Order: sequence, then structure tokens, then C-alpha cells
Amino acid sequence: MALAPDKFEREVQRLGRALYQRAAQHKPSLFEAQDLLGRMIDWSLDDESLRVALFRFVDVLPSLESSSEIGRHLEEYFSRVDHALSGLAILAQALHAGRLVAPMVRRNVIKLSRRFIAEESGNHLSSVLSALRKEPAAFTIDVVGEATVSDGEAAAMQQRYLDLMRRLAAASAKWPDCAQIDDSPNGKIPRVNLSVKLSSLCARFDPLDPNTEVIVRERLRALFRQAAQLGAAVTVDMEQNSFRELTLEIFRGVLEEDEFRQQPYAVIALQAYLIDAAQDVSGLIRWARQHRRRVGVRLVKGAYWDSEIAWAKQKSWPIPVFLDKAATDANYEQLSRMLLEGHDVIDAAFGSHNLRSLAHAIVAAKEIGVPGNGYEMQMLYGMAEPVRQAIIQNGQRVRVYLPAGELLPGISYLIRRLMENTSNTSFLRQTYADKKDVDTLIKAPALAKPFPAATGAPGVGRKFSNQAPTDFSRAETRQKFSATLREVRGEFTSSRKRSSESSIESANPANPGEIIGQVRATTASEAERAITKAGHFFPEWRAIPARERADMLFKAAEIMRERRWELAAKELFEVGKGWREADGDVCEAIDYLDYYADEMLRLAEPRETQQLPSETNTHFYEPRGIAAVIAPWNFPLAILAGMTAAALVAGNCVLMKPAEQSPLMGACLHEILRQAGVPDGACQLLQGGGEIGAQLVRAPQVHLIAFTGSREVGLEILREAYTTRPGQNHVKRVVCEMGGKNAVIVDSDADLDEAVVHVIDSAFGYQGQKCSAASRLILLDAVHDRLLARLVDAVQSLKIGPPEDSRNAIGPVIDAAAQRRIVDYIRIGKKEAKCVVEMAAPKDGYFVGPAIFRDVDPRSRIAQEEIFGPVLSVIRAEDFDQALQIANDSQFALTGGIFSRSPAHIEKARKEFRVGNLYINRGITGAIVERQPFGGLKLSGFGAKAGGPDYLLQFLEPRTISENTLRHGFVPPERNKK
Ligand code: NAD
Repeated sequence: MALAPDKFEREVQRLGRALYQRAAQHKPSLFEAQDLLGRMIDWSLDDESLRVALFRFVDVLPSLESSSEIGRHLEEYFSRVDHALSGLAILAQALHAGRLVAPMVRRNVIKLSRRFIAEESGNHLSSVLSALRKEPAAFTIDVVGEATVSDGEAAAMQQRYLDLMRRLAAASAKWPDCAQIDDSPNGKIPRVNLSVKLSSLCARFDPLDPNTEVIVRERLRALFRQAAQLGAAVTVDMEQNSFRELTLEIFRGVLEEDEFRQQPYAVIALQAYLIDAAQDVSGLIRWARQHRRRVGVRLVKGAYWDSEIAWAKQKSWPIPVFLDKAATDANYEQLSRMLLEGHDVIDAAFGSHNLRSLAHAIVAAKEIGVPGNGYEMQMLYGMAEPVRQAIIQNGQRVRVYLPAGELLPGISYLIRRLMENTSNTSFLRQTYADKKDVDTLIKAPALAKPFPAATGAPGVGRKFSNQAPTDFSRAETRQKFSATLREVRGEFTSSRKRSSESSIESANPANPGEIIGQVRATTASEAERAITKAGHFFPEWRAIPARERADMLFKAAEIMRERRWELAAKELFEVGKGWREADGDVCEAIDYLDYYADEMLRLAEPRETQQLPSETNTHFYEPRGIAAVIAPWNFPLAILAGMTAAALVAGNCVLMKPAEQSPLMGACLHEILRQAGVPDGACQLLQGGGEIGAQLVRAPQVHLIAFTGSREVGLEILREAYTTRPGQNHVKRVVCEMGGKNAVIVDSDADLDEAVVHVIDSAFGYQGQKCSAASRLILLDAVHDRLLARLVDAVQSLKIGPPEDSRNAIGPVIDAAAQRRIVDYIRIGKKEAKCVVEMAAPKDGYFVGPAIFRDVDPRSRIAQEEIFGPVLSVIRAEDFDQALQIANDSQFALTGGIFSRSPAHIEKARKEFRVGNLYINRGITGAIVERQPFGGLKLSGFGAKAGGPDYLLQFLEPRTISENTLRHGFVPPERNKK
């Protein structure tokens, strides 16, 4: 029977208070711990730097094998902590005794883990389960361990789930029946309940890859089938938001199959911190009614809050979660009600330790008429025991979420729990540590505020912000891009022409017989005329106010945004980029247009150097003249757009020469710039190969050369450009970005789950054809074998084929010459080192399967020369210093990376790993405009970094004008006023 809102609220508060009185009598075990770590957790509540150090230390601990390593890390982490707290005396002692306390610390962490995780082996798990059932509490088991990165690991994980389910089912037959936890209005509920993360069932859970769905469905079917036979339940856990849509899709899809229409008992977790959660809840209820399929829903608040915000900000995507804890709590109550109202098809489970949230669910259930055993409460093992007892005593069914596995590898789970316990907004912390009063704890949460609009692209003239990449985790965007690919393909097949000497054909590298377009090649005399035309137009273009030129770029960015799908699709076909890579290149091109336009507005204002009453001193910039822009094919839109935009907005007349392998992207950019109002004389397109580039470089009328490409061509251009020719009255300026031979170091304490994934992306993303790609992997002894074995398995899980099929992680290389060169290097590698992976590749098209070499001599050719393909040289290092020395031993110095959890090593790398762009604990490709200004040192390049604040200066000439304003002692009044 519906209660009036105020009466309902009074009832929730009354129950909340009563539960609180019961629960407050005891502390959860975490807050009672008396050992060193327990006390540190206590202190960390008041000290953020200790909290960070503690969690980071606990996080790295499993990877430390020796006492001396544990001692070193203890010292590195805790010597940074602000020692203001008196309690830290023990810690200080521990630091001095570093190595001696190491075993004790390890034991302590294992002990701490045991409070949250049950060991899967031995009798530990069954004794934990028996104890729980005596309370009485039901359970669901979550299997913890390393992240899954290969097919082999995924299959092993599935087997682990199956074995565990069987073992538990056998054991459960002996447990005495207990009505409070075994009965529901629809009969007995399974005693065995397994929580499964779908990402653990495939090598890489990627919604863009249709194989993910196929593989995960198949593995989930096996789990469901066995659960149905054994009368067990399977709960599908919810992970990050980017997995949500596909997770729901797979869950519902499999349950719709005939075999699973009735069985097993299946549950899905939904997260109340998501702004869109209500849609998922109502969608699921609708689906369940339509299919007459009863399902369980575990409603949680969500465990990835900080990460969701961080990921969204990195990608400039709308933040998917409520920013305010109270808004999540309010949403939780709203969703609780929706689920209870759907009790004809939904078994609701409320996963929370917050007594207010739980009291609300209980009162709402009563009001809606759901029987007391028609829903349940879920709590995490090792947390909130008194809250659990209070709810059990109140007669509810409580299910404990119990992680099981090896204690140390389960550490990431432990960290999440510790973070949760000690965060300011934790109900447990507020109750037991901060001792907030009961009225505050049980008051109704404020409703969600309207959410701020997404951080999207800038409008004309607004402050720069990065263009958000397409979110391919959404089915809608995947369908849209598929449709665009079909349309674009339709256009190019129908426009095929006969080739001739004066044309350049653009072929699809995945299928070279497919000509996607043709352009007219620029002849030498046409190039000459273009140079003359640029020279004539230059005074006019220079005289146009910077604001107008900037507006043209803003407009071009706008047009690109509108055409982004089509541009990305064309790029995919022209240069063989995958979906995300092609989309990323278009975003980067948009960023360059917007960013340099903004930058020019900043630089356009003349600056008074010093204020004097008698003199004006003005410093300002002017364009240089004619700029030759010579670009590579591997970022065919972004790099060409970046160099062109910088030159144009600075007021130079541009002769734009795309690479001969990507003429269509060049033509698209030219068309967009013209459409945005850039006059013909200001930006002329010259299509052709090195000969046209060389002609431009040598031309005496050219003032500036902006080049990105290989070292050989770059050095040749520098030689030519600095030779002064007859008729040349100026020194040419060269902006020159060249190749790389980039190294990634994996330290002995690195997080290997992360390292494997990022090394694969960095080495094999776009087939290794990025100047920033990882081509040398330097592994410290301690991790060498383990990481290499996981890497090899994970790489072999990648599919190779045409990139329009998003199952293929590896596409073609750019052309036959590149294919030959890479294959030659693989041959050389086989003589120089040991080949551990050489994947087969499709015969049609310019494919080369990824290759990995081990035991590579750091001075060998495959470790020194830029291969520009999917070839990775693995080099062993004895210690970190040697690893750094190997990394720096190269003619190139573009990007580099390290994976390490040692603060001292990270610090050392910052100082001594001398590359243009150093990346720590992340991938080494994908620099973002303004965020990571990009460019190399040594023979990788010189000059200012692209996408950074100094870049435009290279396209400008500074001038200073001083004027004496004093006339016979008379100072002009306006200057006096200043
Ligand atoms: P490339 O050097 O062969 O060609 C680059 C451009 O130079 C093309 O437009 C080409 O036609 C032109 N060119 C060739 N010979 C010329 C000459 N003698 N005079 C003037 N122009 C000439 O490089 P690519 O194969 O297009 O690109 C791959 C290379 O680019 C790799 O070495 C890669 O590392 C490098 N790259 C560097 C960066 C960076 O930012 N540092 C970015 C992307 C690519």
C-alpha cells in the first residue's frame, strides 16, 4: 500500500536508525586491526600522502620477489610521506630496517588480503563458506587474479569458473537447508552463485571487435549450461562503462536462446552511479517481461568512479557518472524502487553497506508488496560485518560477495576495497572512523542536479579543447561507421578511371586491385608556376588580419567535424588504418586547425617590450613567405593539416605536397580549406612524389620547408635547403620531423597486465607504422620470461586482415615496397636473433604478420634501424641502469616509455631517458595536441614540438621597431597617461 512521501521517509529513517543502533555496537574488522598495516590504514584516514603511498606500495608488493626489493620499495614510497603524524614512528623504524621488515610486511599484507579474499585452494574457501552459512549468509564468488590478455588465459579462466562451480555444487549438497537464505517466493534459490566478469572470458574485451561478442557468448554459454545442470546461479558483473552496452547485449542475447529460456538462475549487476542507469533498468524489466524470463539484478553504486571520470576526461567525453555521491545515493533509491516494482520478473539484490540505502529498499519493498524473501541484500566479504549482522537479524537474506583466488595476485581487488573503506564519502568510514551522527547518516540523499553538458569541440573562436574521438563502444556509432564505409566504397569503385602517366592512383593496400581514386600528378612546370603564383599572392595574404585567417581555420575544422565519418572511412581505405586509428587521425587534424588558429590569435598582438615615456618598442611577428609543406602518408590528414594550418595561419603561402601514397586525403584537405575560404593563391595542392618535394626544397623563392618523414629524406632536405642558390636572398627555415626507434623499458616491479596491453598497442597499432611506435622492448631479467610469454600469447590472439572488418587488429602495410622492406628485416632478424613470433598474413594485399625477436643484441641492425612495420625486438637487461643505457643507445630519440612502480626509477627515467616524448606507465603513441606537444631529438628531429606553444614561431619572423616619440622635450600626452 502506497505511503504518503513524508510518512515513507519517516519509516525509512526509523528503520535506518534501528539498524544503525544495532550495527554501531561493533566495528568492522578492518577498523579494528591492530597490526602494522591496520594501524597504517587508520592513520591514512587523516593523511592523504600516506594513503597514496600505502596503496601504491600494496599494489606493487606482489611483484616484488626478494626482501631487498621489498625494502627498497618501502623506503622509496614512505620516505616521501609527510611524517607529521606521531604514529609514524613505527614506520620510520621500519624504513631504517627496510630489508629486515620485508618478510613481516609481506605477511601483513597477506593477512590483510585474507580479510577480503578467500584462498581458492585448500580448505580455506570451504571453511569461509560454512562460517557464512551459519550466520546465515549466502554467497557469490568472484574469482580474482591477473587480467586476461590472451586466448589461452581466457580459456583457462573459463575452466577455472567451471571447476569451481562443480566443486562448490558438490560441497553445497551437504549443507543443511536454511530458509532465510535458500527460499524465495518462487521456490529454492541456488546455493552456489558465481560472479563472472565478461572481460575475463576473452583476450581483449573490445566492443568494436565483433569477435568479442562471439567468443564471450560461447564461453558464457558453457558457464550457463553447467550452472543449469548443477542448479547454480551465474551473476554477470558490470565493469567499466565502455563495456556496459555489450555486456548487457551478451547477457540478454544468450538468455534469449532456447536453451537458456528457463535456466540457469542468471543475474546482472547494474551501477547506480551511471547517469543512464535508469534506462538500463527499465530496458531490462521490459525485456524480461517480453521474454517472460525471470532474472536477478544486483544493484550496486559502482566501483570505478574515479577511473570513469579520469577516462572520460582523457577522451573529452561526457562524464558518465554522477559527480556527487548524494546524487548516486538518490539514484540508487529511485532504481531500487523501479526494480522492486518489476518484481514479477526481477529478483532484486541490493549491494550496499549504506544503511540508509538498505532501509530505503526494505521499506519500499514492503510498500510495493514484495515479500521479505523476494529480494536480498549483498555485501562485500571483510567489510561491514556489523551492518551485515544488523540486516540478518532484521530477517533479510544477505549474500556476501566473496572474492576467491590467490591472495597476492588478487591485490588489485584489495586496493579497490581499501580505497572504498577509506574514502571520505564511504558510509563505513563515516560511521566507524569519522563517527558522524546518525541523523546525518540516514537522511535522505539530495536529488541529482542537472548534469553539465558534455565537453565537446570548440565553436568558432572559443578557447581550444580537443576533439573527442568517436566512442565505438556504442552499437549506434559502430553501425554508423559501417554504413559510411559502405557508402565510401560505393563511390570509389564506380569512379574508376584508366591510369596514365600524369595521374597517381590510390590503391587500397588491403586489396591493391581496388583503386579508390586517382589524382592528377603535378608536373615540374606546373610546380614552378605554383611557386610564382604563391610569390605574387604573398603580399595580399600577409596583409589579411590574423583574425580572418584564424577564422578560416576554425571554419575548416567545423567542416571536418561535419565530414569526420567520411574522412575516416576514406583514410581507412587509402592507408589501411583501423577504425579507431582513422578516427583518431581526423580528430588530430581538427585539433591542429583549432589549436594553431588559437595560437595565432595569441601571437598576433604586437607586444610592447618595455614601457618608456620617450620611445615605443614593439615586438611582433610576420610571416616568412612561401612555405613548402611535405608530408608523410602515415597520418595522412593530421600531419598534413598540422603543418599546413601552422604555415597558413601565420600568413605564409603554402605549397602543399601530400605523400604520393595518400593523395586522396591531401585532396580532401585542400578542398576543405578552400571551402573554408582559404584563397587559391594561399594554399596550392601539388600532387606527386619525392621529385616534386625536392623541386620545392631547392626553389630559391621558397622561404620555409615544413617536412615530416624519414631520416634519409629529412637529412637530404636539410642539405639542400641550406645551400643558397642564385636569386635567393634569404636563409631557408626548415621544420624537420624524422623517424624513431623507440624503446619501452619494463622494470622488474611493473604491472604486467598493463604492460602487455600497452606494449601491444604501441608496437603493433597501425602495424607499427607510426614514428612513435615501440620497436625495442627492454625487459629486466626478473620479468623477462613472464612478460615475453604473455606478450607472445597475446599477440598471437590478434587477427590480421582488411581493416574495414573491425575484427582485424592488424591491417596491411602501406605498399609493396614497405612490405618487401619489412620482410627483409624479418629475414635479417632471423640471422641476428631468435624469432619467437612470426604470424602468417593473408596473401592478397600488403600484409605482414607481426614478428617478435628475443635475445636481440642492442647493437644489431634490427635494434638500431627504423623498420616501420610490425616488428618488435626484445632485449634483456640486467638492471634498470643498463636498461636506460640500452634505450639511449640510438641515433633516434623520438618517444620512449617505461613501466615501473619504483618512484626512484621513474625519477631517474625522467632525467636520463632522453627522448622528445617520454611516457610513463602508459602506451607511447597517440600524442594529443596541446596536451603532449610532440617531436624528437637527435636524428629524430629538431625544432619546436608540433601541437605545442612554440610551434608557430617557426613559421614566423620576429621584428622589433623602436620609435623615438620625444620631439624637443615634448612627450605625447597619450604615452604620458600610460
Ligand atoms: P618519406 O621520407 O619517404 O616521405 C615523406 C615525404 O617526403 C613524402 O611526401 C615524399 O614524397 C617526400 N620526399 C621524398 N623524397 C624527397 C626529397 N628528396 N625531397 C623532398 N621531399 C621528398 O617518409 P614516409 O614513408 O612518407 O613516412 C614515414 C617516415 O616518416 C618514417 O620514417 C616515420 O618515422 C616518419 N614520421 C615522422 C614523424 C614525426 O613526427 N617525427 C611523423 C610521422 C612519420
